[in-house]
Amino acid sequence: MTAQVLDGKAIAAVVRGEVKERAEAFAAKYGRRAGLHVVLVGDDPASQVYVRNKEMAAGKAGLAGQVHRLPADTSQAELEALVEKLNADPAIDGILVQLPLPAGLDAQPVLDRLAPEKDVDGLTPMSAGLLLDGRPGLRPCTPSGCMRLLREAGLDDLSGKRAIVIGRSLLVGKPIALMLLAKNATVTMAHSRTANLAEECARADIVVAAVGRAELVKREWIREGAVVIDVGINRGDDGKLVGDVAYAECAERASWITPVPGGVGPMTIAMLLDNTVAAAERREAAKA
Ligand code: NAP
Repeated sequence: MTAQVLDGKAIAAVVRGEVKERAEAFAAKYGRRAGLHVVLVGDDPASQVYVRNKEMAAGKAGLAGQVHRLPADTSQAELEALVEKLNADPAIDGILVQLPLPAGLDAQPVLDRLAPEKDVDGLTPMSAGLLLDGRPGLRPCTPSGCMRLLREAGLDDLSGKRAIVIGRSLLVGKPIALMLLAKNATVTMAHSRTANLAEECARADIVVAAVGRAELVKREWIREGAVVIDVGINRGDDGKLVGDVAYAECAERASWITPVPGGVGPMTIAMLLDNTVAAAERREAAKA
């Protein structure tokens, strides 16, 4: 079997188009644009690129907003005070604190302060709890993007299917496992201490790799016809991006597979925009 490509670039463009329409309708109805504010502390080059991409995508989608760039020596108290200020600003619908924070700053108390209704990254304890409980809320962007890819390809009826998620971070592994469970998959969560990972993986109809180890998942790990979602982003020695899945060999076994780049990556920003417009709509609806 040769896998069909789950084209994140194309599907992200569809999501961004939908967001733009909703953002324009929101602006027409409420006389203001949905607002996304991003907090970037320090000068980590990768974070700067990510934030610039988010800023550009938000502008193109018709969202208002601002990036708050703070020096690396910002204190914990100053950062938390900024989050409180953004929480209190009625024109702001979404707040994203770019992670990781520089050494010496603790992300958890910052996320604890962030207003859940503005948590467009879906990382506050309230957002995590709502997901666990199966209640509506703002979901983390990367896992939401993976689920949207499955939906667009008509692959999201997971009743009777076995899924494995490799990686158990709060950002990706845990939330995507809950989302797959909510779609009635039978979910295995694997991690660095899992025994016989290759065998566990080879039983799965859906494989989600969110590890951060270049080409960890090999051909023999993939059951014939499985769907493979590769969240990993790793930079090879030659500077090229590679995923957590050995793409070419796994594509020979899978029915569907996401490429890296061009798979999950573009979906993450698209879902951030989607969360922002959803947060704005919900906040206005709650006032009515
Ligand atoms: P993370 O917090 O470092 O978590 C990695 C997970 O992988 C951990 O649960 C770890 O297990 C597990 N792991 C590590 N080595 C393993 C191994 N040899 N076998 C099995 N499991 C192993 O990373 P993350 O934030 O979830 O990100 C994972 C990857 O996705 C990274 O490459 C990151 O760059 C990428 N990512 C991409 C996007 C996107 O937009 N496409 C967004 C976010 C992240 P333990 O818990 O036991 O340590």
